Amino acid sequence: MPELPEVQTIVNDLQILTGDTITGFWTDFEKAIKTRNFKKALVGEKIKSIKRLSKNIVIELSSNNAIIIHLKMTGKLLINKQVSTNNLQQKHLHHIFSLKKNNALVFSDIRKFATLELISRDKLSEIEKTKGVDPFSKDFTLETFSKIITKHKNKNIKSILMNQAAIAGIGNIYASEIPYDAKLNPMRKLSSLTSTEIRLLHHSILKILTKAIEMRGTSISDYRDANGKKGGFQNQLKVYGKAGKKCHKCDTIIAKETVEQRSTFYCPTCQK
Ligand SMILES: [Zn+2]
Repeated sequence: MPELPEVQTIVNDLQILTGDTITGFWTDFEKAIKTRNFKKALVGEKIKSIKRLSKNIVIELSSNNAIIIHLKMTGKLLINKQVSTNNLQQKHLHHIFSLKKNNALVFSDIRKFATLELISRDKLSEIEKTKGVDPFSKDFTLETFSKIITKHKNKNIKSILMNQAAIAGIGNIYASEIPYDAKLNPMRKLSSLTSTEIRLLHHSILKILTKAIEMRGTSISDYRDANGKKGGFQNQLKVYGKAGKKCHKCDTIIAKETVEQRSTFYCPTCQK
């Protein structure tokens, strides 16, 4: 599932569509659309801005409504300048936004879990309030982070990183890579962290997510950017998916444990 760096990469790519006008909408999978009269409300609307909200893509329109897109497992948003000559697997292409200047924004989804919804500005602010602090917002200070740690002191590192109501945007891949970078065992209880360790963890969250955005995300299976290309951070992964392999720093075998039903990877020697 795309996490913060993958969604941010797509959102950055989609900026080219700002100011364009939606001239039509086609779908062959209505079930993914959570709003009635979706097409009617879209046609003629200008794209005011495109932003990321946690792991979702928000397209703000001139009417002050916004399209909120959840890519889920296999959703891909692609800027399509020439529909006829593209190499997309057509059978997975389920939604097409026709555009005045950029031809089209196409949505492919192999497993069909992705959703699209048209929401009001008020509804958008309501959703924003349910999300935890975004690591790239100015609110994500060491002080705020320390407060989150104190509030959830009985939880462990892995589960706080994955808790979307506390910190928004991190999923299973980066919730393994961040503790490795901070040299902290992901199963460590938050109440056991020293102020130095909290500072290291805060630093590693920003460092790893920034690096992943620079490398245009992690393509292990389905993720592609808005031009259909793979990211590069999969080549930088140190522990995620590496159980049974040697740690690149100390040769210890990478361990895997299950935390809240999700696989967690770490080096038992490097991470304390
Ligand atoms: Zn190691």
